[in-house]
Amino acid sequence: MEVINGHKKWGFQGNPELNASSISVSGVLTKLMANRNKDDKRPTIPLGRADPTEFPSYRTTPVAPDAVADATYSYNFNCYPPTVGVAEARRAVAEYLSKDFPYQLSPDDVYLTAGCTQAIEIVVSVLARPNANILFPRPGYPQYEARASCSKLEARHYDLIPEKGWEVDLDSVEALADENTVAMVIINPSNPCGNVFTYQHLKEIAETASRLGIFLISDEVYGHLAFGSNPFVPMGVFGSTVPVLTLGSIAKRWIVPGWRLGWIVTSDPNGIFHQSGVKLNLPLLEGIIDDVDFCMKLAKEESVIVLPGVTVGLKNCLRITFAVEHSALEDGLGRIKAFYHRHAKMK
Ligand SMILES: *Cc1c(COP(=O)(O)O)cnc(C)c1O
Repeated sequence: MEVINGHKKWGFQGNPELNASSISVSGVLTKLMANRNKDDKRPTIPLGRADPTEFPSYRTTPVAPDAVADATYSYNFNCYPPTVGVAEARRAVAEYLSKDFPYQLSPDDVYLTAGCTQAIEIVVSVLARPNANILFPRPGYPQYEARASCSKLEARHYDLIPEKGWEVDLDSVEALADENTVAMVIINPSNPCGNVFTYQHLKEIAETASRLGIFLISDEVYGHLAFGSNPFVPMGVFGSTVPVLTLGSIAKRWIVPGWRLGWIVTSDPNGIFHQSGVKLNLPLLEGIIDDVDFCMKLAKEESVIVLPGVTVGLKNCLRITFAVEHSALEDGLGRIKAFYHRHAKMK
């Protein structure tokens, strides 16, 4: 630590990425408010804010605070909750969202967060790895960019086409995506455009993402707040075409942004998100003691590298990444199969 004029100079510095993405909505609104003409006697009409809770027409249903009061006075929920959320609340979210689904979501598909904002933070941070990029809509919701730049995840922007009711420019998505693209974010119903994607357009988005091998993050924080003639359809309906992470919260539909309750939900009936957990059935294998032994022999005999599960806390499993060229994946899996046949116990 340096000492200047007898004072310590602290080494503290903020994350410079945060300043770089500093055109925040609230910052601009503060400047606009300060710029008003003091002599104008008319009341200010706030058409720029996203929080209507101060207006009497925007009161949440009394059922909601009553339920919270009951839960509080029950003294049953003062404990630390599980990291993924209280079981009853996860079940309630799964049941609520399943009403719009062709299949039933499980409470295990639901992860509760501190508002949709924390859902964005978690999902974007988890996806950030060196050289990875992610596709965001333009125009979009600035929280995504802020979070990506903090995590050093490259943000690429596809366009929404105003002449087509703000539909996704799927050509620009195809042009932007490459082998390092991890996911594509859609916001439906749209903030800031207010449109709602049709079933047909959602299907096209799902098919495009599936062809590109990237999964979808669907921000549905405005779910069911649909203006115009298109009914709201959740992206998770297409979960068997492409895995979907749905982000949502109670902030907008129930007009309680201060309650900070949101969720991440997986819609992945084919289990793609879990496909890299392979369990070893050791009694079927001759001369293989455990996962490390399996991986060492596989590397020596077949020049295929897979990670023993013990390194990620799951002993006797294998951690296989599928994020390689398709031909290499096929070759690798073929060699693992040959290795297995050589080591399979004779019946
Ligand atoms: C408001 C909003 C969020 C944040 O939701 P909270 O639950 O208030 O954190 C996320 N995405 C979009 C598109 C929003 O408009």
